[in-house]
Order: sequence, then structure tokens, then C-alpha cells
Amino acid sequence: MGDRTAEGAMEMLTTPDYEAMVIGAHPDDNDFGTAATCALWASQGKKIVWVVMTDGTEGSEIPSQNDEELMLLREQEQRLAAETYGVQAVEFLRNHDGHLVNSEEARRSVVKLIRKYRPRVVFTHDPTAHIMGPDPDEKPQATGYLNHPDHRATGNIVLDAIFPFAGNPRSYRELLAENLQPYRVHEIYLFNSPTTNTYVDVTTSIDQKGKGLMCHASQFNPEDRDSMSQRIRERAAMVAKEAKEKKGLEMQFAEGFRRVKLHVPPEPKTPMPGSEE
Ligand SMILES: [Zn+2]
Repeated sequence: MGDRTAEGAMEMLTTPDYEAMVIGAHPDDNDFGTAATCALWASQGKKIVWVVMTDGTEGSEIPSQNDEELMLLREQEQRLAAETYGVQAVEFLRNHDGHLVNSEEARRSVVKLIRKYRPRVVFTHDPTAHIMGPDPDEKPQATGYLNHPDHRATGNIVLDAIFPFAGNPRSYRELLAENLQPYRVHEIYLFNSPTTNTYVDVTTSIDQKGKGLMCHASQFNPEDRDSMSQRIRERAAMVAKEAKEKKGLEMQFAEGFRRVKLHVPPEPKTPMPGSEE
């Protein structure tokens, strides 16, 4: 970046409006990755916005199901779930499910939302998580899995949007006319990361996560409510165990993230020439 004091230079904004923006590929990804943390933070009065990158139209076993209907249904389920957690806003970017790529258009749409909500923290998929599985010699019965390409694409789109584009006054200059000014995100929390370094104690909000996930009725059978709730608790208890082993933390239920703090220069004390604030 060049000289921030040069004539005509534009200072980027660094004071957040929202505490957190969570950006996932599909309806229900944000729930699995962050719902208990979001419910906890919302209960502390923090403002949170969720973003869903794709339209969710490949999330069904029925090839003849109408795309538009499925999209609208899943968006409604996501809104209901978000309400359960106390998330204030949900944005749908409606990219084609299963075919998301780190394109100019995708990056631009995320930059727009980052500048609109100015989140202190952005949560997203860890794009480095791809082939996940134990050594078959060590655990012969265990199976591995491949991380969904939309999850990896989302992680890459979001990280690229955060740096360099959201904070660069010369990137997407057409957004300045919409009063979407350059903004620097302070921290990144990556979910489903193979290199978790941060644990959030979600003992008080874990049951909200199980309840909210059941709002995704097109994805989960209502009769599975108890087993879903059980599964969510078991997973969170495992993460809490890891928190104890790695960091000596005492938690009953936890969500884990790879947290990255970013350098954010202080905002200028005097208002910028031409600024209305
Ligand atoms: Zn997904």
C-alpha cells in the first residue's frame, strides 16, 4: 500500500459495526461450524450477520425437485435457525450450489458485504482443509473424508476478500459511489480447521445449536431430533477434551477455531477531508 497521507489518499475504516460475520458455503454450514458461539455472543448483546454463498440447490436426493422451491425453502430454514441463535441478519448470495469458484464476481460480492457490515471478526471455512483422514495403519476401521469443494472455495474467496480487497481503496472503486468504503477486518476464525488454536466455551448455548439445526427440516428428519442433539453434544464434548489437552482449559462443551489476528492500523483522529462523519 502507498502513502496514506498523500493528497487524495483515502483512509480505510477500522472501527467495526458488527462483532461478527459468518460466511459459509451452504445453508447449515454456519450452524455446524459456529452456531453455539454465535448464540453465546448474541446473548452478550453482540451484533452478528450470517452469509450463505450458494443457493443450496444440490442439497436433496430428489433429482426432479424444483430448484427455485428448494432454494427458497432452504433460505427460510436458514432464517429460522439464525433467529433461534439470535443472529440479526442473514444474506444469501445464491451462487450455484456445488459449482462455487473463487471468481471476480464472488470476491466482489463478499467485499461488498464486508464493507457494508464492517465486522470485527469474520468466521469462514478453513480453505486448507481438503483430504481429512487418519493413518489407516493406526486406525484400520476409521474412514476419512474429502472436504466439499464449495467449502474450500468459500474459504479462499473470503480470505481474498478480506485481504487485499476489502481494505484497499483502489479495489472495486465503483463501490465508493455506494458509500461502501474500504474497511479492515480485525480477526479471522476458521472453522473445521485441522489446526485449531482457539476454543470457545459453549456450555450454556450448546442446546440452542441442536435446536437450531433441526430448523433445516429439508436436510434432517424431525424424528432424528434427539440423535442430532446427542451428536452435537458429543462432538462439542470431544472439542472440549481437546481444549483441555492442548491448552489446559476446563470446558464441558466447546467449539474450536483457527484464529488469526490481523494488523489493523489506527483510524485517523481528525475527520478526513470530504468525509461526512
Ligand atoms: Zn456445506
